[in-house]
Amino acid sequence: MQSAEQVDSRRVVEELKELAGLTGGPEGARRVAWTDEWVRARDWLKGKLEDIDGVEVERDEAGNLWATAPGDSEKAVLLGGHIDSVPNGGWLDGALNTVAALEVMRVLAPQQRPVTLRLVDWADEEGARFGRSLFGSSATANVLDPDEVRGLKDRDGVALPDALSEHGVDLDRMNESHKQLENAVAYLELHIEQGPVLERMDFPLGVVLGTFGVERHAVRFTGQHAHSGSTPMDVRRDAFIAAARSAIEFRDDAGRRDDVRATTGFVNVSPAIVTAFNGWCEMSLDQRALDAEVLADMLKVARENSERVAEEEGCSVEWERLWRIEPILFNDELIGLAEEAVNEVAGKSHRLPSGPLHDAASMAPLMPTVMLFVKSLRGLSHTKDEDTPEEDLELSVQALHRLAVSTIDWAGK
Ligand SMILES: [Zn+2]
Repeated sequence: MQSAEQVDSRRVVEELKELAGLTGGPEGARRVAWTDEWVRARDWLKGKLEDIDGVEVERDEAGNLWATAPGDSEKAVLLGGHIDSVPNGGWLDGALNTVAALEVMRVLAPQQRPVTLRLVDWADEEGARFGRSLFGSSATANVLDPDEVRGLKDRDGVALPDALSEHGVDLDRMNESHKQLENAVAYLELHIEQGPVLERMDFPLGVVLGTFGVERHAVRFTGQHAHSGSTPMDVRRDAFIAAARSAIEFRDDAGRRDDVRATTGFVNVSPAIVTAFNGWCEMSLDQRALDAEVLADMLKVARENSERVAEEEGCSVEWERLWRIEPILFNDELIGLAEEAVNEVAGKSHRLPSGPLHDAASMAPLMPTVMLFVKSLRGLSHTKDEDTPEEDLELSVQALHRLAVSTIDWAGK
């Protein structure tokens, strides 16, 4: 199809500011899902979508908002985003994708297209109130187990099913929204990077290869605590030292590899007093990589290192898995189209993995999926200081438009 018609990328920046004014303040965005301000943001978006000729707007059983611009066939290309935010969040996380997709709908809805174009505003991507991220998109992907989340409560003790029903959503029927994906053939999502990579490389835009797989463990060292005065250095079984040496091994192993992460988050020791060294130490290890084999090898090496260090320190070590998720790879052909789109508008493009999960991770197992990233200043996100230069935001809207056009052509073949 023709892409002669251009998007008004300036309007997207203005509308993002309008949304920030409507549902944000000096402390940042306040569009927490299943709250009044989220509804206000949603109504704002819905009104703008309904103003586009030929676009049908509806809400599904999971509370996701859909806008459909029918094409020659029912096969549909989806543009996704989430207008919800964390408390005191930034003005761009999720909102950029949604408002950019709105602009792309404005331009492409009136044009004849071989396939249908749909926008989806996912409900509760952030999980800020009840702690379950990718909530709406998981339901639509049919991977949300209602019983797993039924008992969740917010900070005020409100139960999740009650908050949902206040917003017209029945937890036990959320997965029925899966039928929205019946004719979907591709999923595209633009997002701020939320990290420092593109800024450091001086690239406005990048193409996302997929989302990291995660291996998350508690690693527990046991030695024997004893008096800090009476115990000579060479007979100590200091569990903290074993843990600390292991943490450095974990970090160094990750540093020797390409684009992976290893993080020690929490550290607990016992007895944790000044007059004894610690006979027990527990810490977390969170490992991330885009390649499943690399991730498995990182875990194997980390275990071996911890066992060797523990032995040298006269301790034992135990591992307990806290959580894991497989890497999710995006579609090669769409990655190619995304790279062309980014090169056309920015003159250069960088391929990178995503550390955070996104709704695209819910869609990727079901259909060809790709994401575009735009630079985040100082890598900051989930804070009111989150920002991206306006000229780069405009480039990102233009790139999403071009990618939508080429994906529609690709899907029409
Ligand atoms: Zn987001």
